[in-house]
Amino acid sequence: MIKPFKKISWIITLLFSIYVLILVYPNPLFAHKHEFKQFTVHSDQEIPNEIEQVLDLVTYKISQSELYNQDLKFNIFVCNDNWRFKFLTRNPNAAGLVHFVLSRNVFVRSCDIVNDKIIPPDTWKFGTEDRSMNWLLSHELTHSMQSYHDRFMVFKTSVPIIEGYADYIGKFDTFDFLKYQKDFRENHVEMDPANGLYKKYHLFVADFIDNKGYSFLKLVEESPDLNLIEELRKN
Ligand SMILES: [Zn+2]
Repeated sequence: MIKPFKKISWIITLLFSIYVLILVYPNPLFAHKHEFKQFTVHSDQEIPNEIEQVLDLVTYKISQSELYNQDLKFNIFVCNDNWRFKFLTRNPNAAGLVHFVLSRNVFVRSCDIVNDKIIPPDTWKFGTEDRSMNWLLSHELTHSMQSYHDRFMVFKTSVPIIEGYADYIGKFDTFDFLKYQKDFRENHVEMDPANGLYKKYHLFVADFIDNKGYSFLKLVEESPDLNLIEELRKN
């Protein structure tokens, strides 16, 4: 007879293994699929053809990254039902998630594909002008590319570099260095990462790549401290 404690640990191990398997292969939870270029988009709702315009913009942005390769394959899972997003990300207030070590799957919250917008959670306090669906996908796909390069990069590299670079690529077409620098100097609320935005990290990464001539991989290797951003308070 198996002792109750042993039985419970077996059940927990089994459930955990099933959950991990679903994170790696969540396809059965998504009834709809649309393949385009190197992307396979899965959704719990029908996928309008406008997804191809969104993915064209995404391709333009992520191809700016030194980590990009047109042979990479990307699986994107759009979770319109909040329970599905919560189950797969364990963070109902996030916009999207990649489980770096387990897989390169991209999970994103409910989106208005036709209008290229994400539908933020009720708790979202800021504007959504610079939070298009193509930004979100480009940001999360940059995490996929980081994981393709090194599955364990997320453990070896600081959050400001990982997240700042994902926004650097995600907002490649609209980023305004001087505006971000001004907001940083004025301690604008959106420059505080505690509010769920990565603008401070983006400014930090952009300063190293655009002004100091770093590549992303050199940034990862040297891992400069976020406090160096304080230099940007001067002229
Ligand atoms: Zn991110």
